[in-house]
Amino acid sequence: MMQKANVLITGGAGFIASHLVDLLVSQGHTVSIIDNFSTGRRENLLHQEGQVHILEADITDFNAIFSYFAGKDIVFHLAALADIVPSIVNPRGYYASNVMGTMNVVEAARLCGIKKVVYAASSSCYGIPTEEFYPTSEKAPSSPQYPYALTKYLGEKTLLHWGKVYDLAVISLRLFNVYGPRSRTSGTYGAVFGVFLAQKLDGKPYTVVGDGNQTRDFVYVTDVAEAFTVAAFSNVKNEIFNVGTGDPQSINKLVALLGGKKVNIPKRPGEPDCTWADIHKIKSMLGWQPKVSFEEGVGKILEHIDYWKEAPVWTPETIEKATEEWFKYLNGRELSTIHPEKRSDEGSTLRDPLPSGLQDERLGK
Ligand code: UDP
Repeated sequence: MMQKANVLITGGAGFIASHLVDLLVSQGHTVSIIDNFSTGRRENLLHQEGQVHILEADITDFNAIFSYFAGKDIVFHLAALADIVPSIVNPRGYYASNVMGTMNVVEAARLCGIKKVVYAASSSCYGIPTEEFYPTSEKAPSSPQYPYALTKYLGEKTLLHWGKVYDLAVISLRLFNVYGPRSRTSGTYGAVFGVFLAQKLDGKPYTVVGDGNQTRDFVYVTDVAEAFTVAAFSNVKNEIFNVGTGDPQSINKLVALLGGKKVNIPKRPGEPDCTWADIHKIKSMLGWQPKVSFEEGVGKILEHIDYWKEAPVWTPETIEKATEEWFKYLNGRELSTIHPEKRSDEGSTLRDPLPSGLQDERLGK
């Protein structure tokens, strides 16, 4: 039932979205993207030159993006600000992109008669689930632990609300830990694969958080791209689906597959010891299931390791500095519950709301 469609991908130059571009182009669809190129990279689309229409614009600017939705059939909404630390430092920027930006996208979609909007939601909405919620189904309670998680969750709520009130067909895909070639390598301390691959290239030890026995539901990026297309071209609407493998892997296992030395760094507050997707719903309603095993996926990423040549090489010292705010705020929250007196001698906790230079960079303006 794969008709040729006119599709629009927000954040099309990003890691996951650029793989979605590849899949949709290979299926013969007409592909357009919107990207502000703040974290998305032109290199991610170079091999598709001439195949993809590009609008350089920011989704926070409704007037700049609205007319681009006209005549499109399907919208894939993947544009967002990612990463935990900058979201703690700059919550306004995250609200602008991930909440207001999402509202702009669904509103433009509604006004232009788009047939389906598929949204890249985040499994971080589950926070730190209690034991009975493993594996974690879409019905598990949500408990975002930091502004990135909250804003992605509010984006999902907005999408579903537009689905309900305006009868816009929408699907929210809650992505677990997506990995694969082109995962971001910006200056921000972020996802584990980018960190470890740059360390491997530089002959530095892998910075393993805690004892490394924590597990993540890592899902390979081409499988994720397929989940988006399956969701878009099915008749199912107004539903949430987990996208993971249901087979979590430990960080120590990742280190063993990559090969090399490791060094342990402190466990971080607000992080679950395990993420584990229950994928029964997407299997049964959309017929999607992952195809790439963890071993295979890590093998494929190693074939493309040169991509990380320019990536920053993190050390325990630079990570400590980069995660200062993370420890300060998320540990502080625990302190204020358990030891309120310790909090009070810190004096005012109001800090510069927008450190210089950050806002411009993160908003891509
Ligand atoms: N991790 C690690 N070393 C690093 C960065 C991350 O051991 O330098 C671990 C981290 O503790 C977590 C996993 O890798 O268990 C995935 O972390 P990431 O930040 O990629 O995703 P998230 O924590 O949001 O699931």
